[in-house]
Amino acid sequence: MKTIYCIGELLIDFVAIKQGNDLSKAKEFTKKAGGAPANVACAISKLGGKGQFIGAVGNDPFGTFLLNVLKDNRVDISLAQRSKTFTTMAFVSLAEDGERDFVFSRGADKKLKYDSKLKKQLKGNIVHFGAATGFLGGGLEEAYDRYIFDAITQDAFISFDPNFREDLWRGEEECFIKKSLKFIGKSHLCKFSNEEIQLITGEQDIEKACNIVHELGCPIICVTLGSEGTLVSTLNKKTTVKSIQVAPVDTTGAGDAFIGCLLYQIANIGDPHLILKNYDQLIDMVTIANRAGAITTTGYGAIPSLPDHDAVFNN
Ligand code: ATP
Repeated sequence: MKTIYCIGELLIDFVAIKQGNDLSKAKEFTKKAGGAPANVACAISKLGGKGQFIGAVGNDPFGTFLLNVLKDNRVDISLAQRSKTFTTMAFVSLAEDGERDFVFSRGADKKLKYDSKLKKQLKGNIVHFGAATGFLGGGLEEAYDRYIFDAITQDAFISFDPNFREDLWRGEEECFIKKSLKFIGKSHLCKFSNEEIQLITGEQDIEKACNIVHELGCPIICVTLGSEGTLVSTLNKKTTVKSIQVAPVDTTGAGDAFIGCLLYQIANIGDPHLILKNYDQLIDMVTIANRAGAITTTGYGAIPSLPDHDAVFNN
């Protein structure tokens, strides 16, 4: 079984307990582990795979809390880093008008230092780039540039999820698009929401948008469509793979569960690159990954709702 290296941010989400107030009025918050690449590492490990997290947290109690969450989910954190800078935090509340109010306090995640030890370990394995903060500068962005170069030279299978966050990029969308395009062209698999692929390609028709992404050099695209399932696109074929019916209560983390489950399966076929030649197997894998995404929506919070192997494969 191949290892899947998930590189990016791990942070504290402080979510207002009583929704309907903007942050100026919110009084109490719950502390939750957040960060898409960390969620993906947990999704993989919870299924029984080898998920490794590469990222930085502060050398403070929040950093300890976050690393313990990953450890409890059997994620390998041996290459995670502790920084003197405080752990990154996001404060979130839904205001009276339903708009998200958001304050982002960026700390340790941007302090990630490139680690040359990882280069050899990447050989033939899988690397997932999925940081919402990965293109916001600092050490993390530098590490992204160097690790993707290493991943190419080590023949690793490269997965990319742009994780566009409106709150972080308002007014700077063009910069986000430019940086995403660079990664798309180097990836074997890209996962987008339909809004993300429309934003990045400038094309509203999703199938045409997929063709633009293929032209950039990415051979496999998954566009997640919530309850509608996932559009799978390769150079020759496109299929919308249906999801299962569930009663969702919180969709946070569904996309991370989906890509985690897909990568877990790709890690189990020997050479991950073989998936590029087997469309039917890819569709079977996406059918199962849809189930992982769907199950995640039936519980509150991302990491606590990620399904284990039995829930996804034996039901
Ligand atoms: P995120 O907001 O975490 O970045 P995303 O927008 O990429 O996620 P979604 O489309 O919400 O991800 O969900 C990922 C996958 O989970 C979908 O492709 C689908 O297969 C499954 N899924 C999500 N919501 C539902 C639902 N309500 N019913 C059934 N399946 C769902």
